[in-house]
Amino acid sequence: MVKKILYINGDGVGPELMAGARSIVDELADVEWVEGEAGYAAYLKHGTALPNDTVVSAKACDAVLFCAVTTPPGIPNYKSAIIGMRKELDLYANLRPFDSLPNVPAPSWTGAPANSAPAPLHFAIVRENTEGLYSGIEEADEVRATALRVITRRASERIVKFAYEYAKKRSFSKVTLVHKANVLRKSDGLFLEVGRAAAKPYAPAIACEDAIVDSVAMRLVKSPGDFQVIVTTNLFGDILSDEASALIGGLGVAPSANIGQKYALFEPVHGSAPDIAGKGVANPTGMLRSAALMLAHLGLEPEARKLETAIESAYKQNIKTLDVGGTARTHDVVEAVRKNLN
Ligand code: ATP
Repeated sequence: MVKKILYINGDGVGPELMAGARSIVDELADVEWVEGEAGYAAYLKHGTALPNDTVVSAKACDAVLFCAVTTPPGIPNYKSAIIGMRKELDLYANLRPFDSLPNVPAPSWTGAPANSAPAPLHFAIVRENTEGLYSGIEEADEVRATALRVITRRASERIVKFAYEYAKKRSFSKVTLVHKANVLRKSDGLFLEVGRAAAKPYAPAIACEDAIVDSVAMRLVKSPGDFQVIVTTNLFGDILSDEASALIGGLGVAPSANIGQKYALFEPVHGSAPDIAGKGVANPTGMLRSAALMLAHLGLEPEARKLETAIESAYKQNIKTLDVGGTARTHDVVEAVRKNLN
């Protein structure tokens, strides 16, 4: 069956990376592409970074493939397009898988010899996307500013369940609930209580561990192989997932999915990289891996595996961009992936 996909190029490196990803998805699946506008270019044209037409189209499609948008400094009341999309589509789960690639040098702190790959990593972080410290409820007067950290039973339960269902589907055997309940006794106390209860039906096949966020930040650097699926609240997930992307080669290679009950949006972890836009050197891996996550979500698992394997093969052939120690250009990597599909 034809899948209808809304694609949003966005700003900076967005158009060049999206073009490559679309051409690869076309090799694998029967897709009808619908273009949507969002980001700074859309703001300049329409006076809003997220035109209503884009939201309406997203709701009429099977999935959204999004590249990256620029958030310009100095425009008061500028509303981020991606935050708007997450809200409008109620995309409560942010999923970031972290899988090592061949020939990507190890970060020196992992204890691996310089320029050698560490033991391959294969884990994921699931972050609650709708509340926590990013609930947007802030107040300030002359002497004090406060932000409300909202944790609800409903959102905690659905995010932990999402993490367990993902673990089950991907054959992981442990989920780590990450919190700071020793200090945030009420808010993270609730997250932990609800999380432990939601974990029970999955035991003993999938174990439940809980850990304090600061110790997890250290363990990610010292022994990232300890983790399989991490599930946590909004701010902690935001910070830990950027930290984790450094373990597998940085922003250029990390994909993500934003998933809700009805809708789903897939985007690379990196931003619009305006410093390298138009130069043909951006790493297309995060974008291509996001497309693979999208295919899997659409029920096209074999096609998704095929794409992931083709990306890995390009890295085995040492075809990689500057940011991960290579000399290839964006186009070279995309073409290597295309050849490897066959
Ligand atoms: P934005 O305002 O869109 O967030 P930014 O430059 O602040 O842009 P990123 O776009 O994430 O944030 O870029 C951070 C750094 O990582 C930049 O130096 C950028 O060139 C680099 N980078 C980001 N994405 C890629 C990529 N796909 N390939 C290579 N380098 C990248």
